[in-house]
Amino acid sequence: MIKDGYLWSVLNNKCPRCRTSIIFKSKNAYSLKNNHFMKMHDACQMCGQKTELEVGFYYGTGYVSYALTVAYSVSSFVAWWILFGFSIQDNSIFYWLAFNSITLIAIMPLLMRLSRSLWLSWFVKYDPDWRQNKPKEPERIVEEQMGNW
Ligand SMILES: [Zn+2]
Repeated sequence: MIKDGYLWSVLNNKCPRCRTSIIFKSKNAYSLKNNHFMKMHDACQMCGQKTELEVGFYYGTGYVSYALTVAYSVSSFVAWWILFGFSIQDNSIFYWLAFNSITLIAIMPLLMRLSRSLWLSWFVKYDPDWRQNKPKEPERIVEEQMGNW
């Protein structure tokens, strides 16, 4: 049940329509060479759902990853507060800042992929009968402009 849930499929970079196949070419978010970790299939390997719905489709993910970054920083601040506490008498705020920056950089590939998965999932609905139904063809497609922004 959990396995085809919305959250599970987004966190695992699954296609939002069929929730079975991963939308990225690499399973590994840390294959950083040539930005391989961000390369996506043009269409879902299982159900044929296009992954780029219009020119510049993923432009808006900048806001999503910003929001995720803020959410992460707030959580890490609160966690640090509970675990170690903050004081103006010492450097604890700087320790947290360093910790937060380093861990943020470390999880950045995951956040960037998650942003795209979230973004696509807001535009493409889950279809339990994806094996029978054909995916909707995106309307605003300029073939020669794809991936060109
Ligand atoms: Zn699919």
